[in-house]
Amino acid sequence: MKKSFIVFLIVTLTFFTLSLATTYIVGTSADFPPFEYVQNGKYVGFDIDLINEIAKIEGFKIQIRDMSFDSLIPALRAGVIDIAIAGMTITDEREKIVDFSEPYWHADQDVIVKKDSKFTVTVLCGKHKVGVQTGTTGDLWVSDNLVKPGLLNPNNVKRYQSFIYSLQALLNGSVDANVLDSPVAERFAKIKPVKIVATLVTGESYGIAVKKGNAELLNKINDALKKLESSGKMTLLIDKYFGK
Ligand code: GLN
Repeated sequence: MKKSFIVFLIVTLTFFTLSLATTYIVGTSADFPPFEYVQNGKYVGFDIDLINEIAKIEGFKIQIRDMSFDSLIPALRAGVIDIAIAGMTITDEREKIVDFSEPYWHADQDVIVKKDSKFTVTVLCGKHKVGVQTGTTGDLWVSDNLVKPGLLNPNNVKRYQSFIYSLQALLNGSVDANVLDSPVAERFAKIKPVKIVATLVTGESYGIAVKKGNAELLNKINDALKKLESSGKMTLLIDKYFGK
């Protein structure tokens, strides 16, 4: 009797503690394989597993909310989401308005064209049309390095809310090239009829973003990142999504 009461108490307390766990709303932009994408109606990818592992270690719950990449920072600032994880590059501009975790990934920008095209890196100049995702570092690179010096007409930069549309535009010939993060370009080159014709060495690092000043949550994320590294779990995750 006594024993069963103790078991009952433990079960009830565990249930109670779990139900008390904070739920954080996690914003992502699920068009960025292998970091975040939709498979069989579910959000999957390296970032999704990573934030789930972080939540497990730190004892909080999460709820994923998918939105366009350029909505993530405004959503963080407005308190609509608590965390943004979306292969987001830590930039000086963004650091002024949100806080980032320690870096967890490194990337450059790649130029992709249709697999059967004869384009080379010169696809970025002249009368060609270049597709980017709005508000990404690829978008910024094209503006700063092609449009500003007059190498590309501003009307020839086509901005899309999602990489899915940008890629579609490339495949149907509406644009001649896409500029996007190298790990994602590499994935697209494996699964779609596209090829990489140039790498723009931008030396970017990805971080997980929280609202400016939310040190409590940021510390939890950084603590979990460290634990995932030291336990070898991070390597397992990398193998899962980037292994051969
Ligand atoms: N790393 C790029 C950026 O931060 C692209 C991210 C994305 O499209 N998900 O702008």
